[in-house]
Formats: sequence, C-alpha cells, structure tokens
Amino acid sequence: MDQLVIENFPVPKAGELVEVSEGIFWLRMPLPMSLNHINLYLVDEGDSFAVIDTGMNYPDSKVLWEQLFETHCQNKPIKKVVVTHMHPDHVGLAGWICERFDAALYMTQTEFFATQAGLADGIPPETNIQFYTQIGMPQEFLDFVAQSPYRMSNIVAPIPHQFRRLSNGGTLTLGGNEWQIITGAGHTFEHASLYCKERLLYFSGDQLLPEITSNVSVYVMEPNANPLALWYESLDSLTVMDKNTLVLPSHNQPFKGVHPRVGVIKDHHDVFLDKLVCLLNTPKSVYDLTQELFPKVDFLEMPLAVGECLAHLNYLLAAGRITCDQSGLPYLYDRKSVEIKT
Ligand SMILES: [Zn+2]
Repeated sequence: MDQLVIENFPVPKAGELVEVSEGIFWLRMPLPMSLNHINLYLVDEGDSFAVIDTGMNYPDSKVLWEQLFETHCQNKPIKKVVVTHMHPDHVGLAGWICERFDAALYMTQTEFFATQAGLADGIPPETNIQFYTQIGMPQEFLDFVAQSPYRMSNIVAPIPHQFRRLSNGGTLTLGGNEWQIITGAGHTFEHASLYCKERLLYFSGDQLLPEITSNVSVYVMEPNANPLALWYESLDSLTVMDKNTLVLPSHNQPFKGVHPRVGVIKDHHDVFLDKLVCLLNTPKSVYDLTQELFPKVDFLEMPLAVGECLAHLNYLLAAGRITCDQSGLPYLYDRKSVEIKT
C-alpha cells in the first residue's frame, strides 16, 4: 500500500449504521462546529455491544443514540464504553451511556484523570489571561475569554468514578478478538488506539486521520510543553502495523494506507516548522505568526490556532533553531542567524 485509499463504504446518515467488517458498525454523530461530525463504532459482542467513543453531550446526539438503542441495537445493552481520549466529542456521552446500561468505562489512566480535571473547570480566568497576554492576543480576545470562559462540563456529561485501564502494549477483547492497545501523545496526553492484527483493523481515534491533521497544541496548563516531539514519536510507532490494515478513524472516512498517511502528516509538520522560521524575519509574537498563517480564524477557534502555532515554536526552541525573548510582553520569537536564508 504505497498510497492512501479511501474505502468505498456509504457514509452513514444520522441514526444509521454501516457494517465495515463483520460485527463492526460505523455511525456518525453531529458536532456543532466546522468539523461537523465524529465517527463512532459499535462492536457486536453477542449478547451486548461495545462502543468506541460516544459523541458530544448535547440533546441531538442523545436523541440519535436513543433511536439506535431501540432499532439497530435491538435493545441489547452496551456493556463496554471505550474512550480513546478526553476531547468532548469522544468522551462527551461516555458517562451517560455507562449510567444507562451499567457499562464499564475503558480509558487510559491519564485521559481518565484529565477528563475529571477538565470537568472540574478549575482554571481561573486570570491564569488564562496571563497565558494569552504572553501570546500577544488583542484586548478584545482577552475580554472574550474573561466573559465567556470555556467550560468542558457544558458539553461533557459527568464520567463514572471508576474505570478500566487501557495501557500501551496491553490488549482488550472486543467482539471475540484481541486488540492491541497503542497509546500516543501530542494530540492529547495518552490517546488510546486499538489494532487487531488478526483482522487487520485499527480503531485510530484522532491518532491517524485520512484528510485532516489532528490538532497538536500547547495549552494554558503547560505553556512550555513540546507536544510536537511526542506527536512525531507517536506517528512513527504506528508503522508497525500491516500495510493492508483498514483504519477506522474518528473523522472523515475509513481508509487503507497507514504508512503513506504517516509520511504526509510528518511532512505537513516539517513544512509548518520551516514556514515559521521563514516568517521570523523580525521578532514576532505567537499571535502575529498565527495571524499570518491563519488570517481567517475566529475567536472560538483561536485557542486551537495559537496553541498549534506555539506547539511548533516550542519544538523549534527545543531544537535550538529559534529564540524567545521573555523580558517583556508579549513574548517575542526570533530565528537564529544560522537560519537566515539568502
Ligand atoms: Zn481529539
């Protein structure tokens, strides 16, 4: 498999299932943002189902779930809720489904605790304001953050107090098959994905997507983080999979071509890094650079855009290719003289 091939399955309409492999069903839930859907998967386990990810906690998704429980699930219970990571489109309804069926929640340890911390909504506005001031955000954005702080609890139902741990290198039985747990970092802290060598199937979550690149961001909790280094490592770890593996991703469509897709994503980040170095012909803030790279981003999506930009800057800093002057506000980045091209 030298190039990516999108598989020719019909895209499931709202409330419908598409069988992508025997006993494995693809469904979609809407998302109220520019990325307007998430893919979820149901695995038939005989007298019950397992679900991979759950959708965001908002009324439309619950209505669709109720329809699915009655029709396609024929009232067979969901007994395993597997959550790849703590982002609201994945974990949003996990607690609700677990409670409804008394199902077990499967997550990595870090993602479980990160969800709990996120649901506590504990970051005070002044910490956010300080972070965004260092980045160089305009006053209107600081006012926006102060007036409408992001609350994860608005879109994620409370999760159970207990979970079953997914660990890298371990296995999980789903639908009578052994699935190898592969964890990765960079998009989030300890993202779980599941590979079935016997059937050449891979639930990739957001770890590998065919059309869009997953956001790799620095967040307010750890301003000096270097998630891009972890992301490159995690991408490399996926190339142990067989080249004919069918990837079942959380967004876009199922595809084959793990290896070429990993190559394209790594190239995308390499190009991003080089672009930033080029733009640093004079000292600039993260916001200045974000404006040049993503001029049309609105306030709602701005945290992801500046977070992604900062992730690439922190990578360049760690690699010694740029400098960061933190003596004033905002922080100013500059390239080193050896990088200047004629
Ligand atoms: Zn995600």
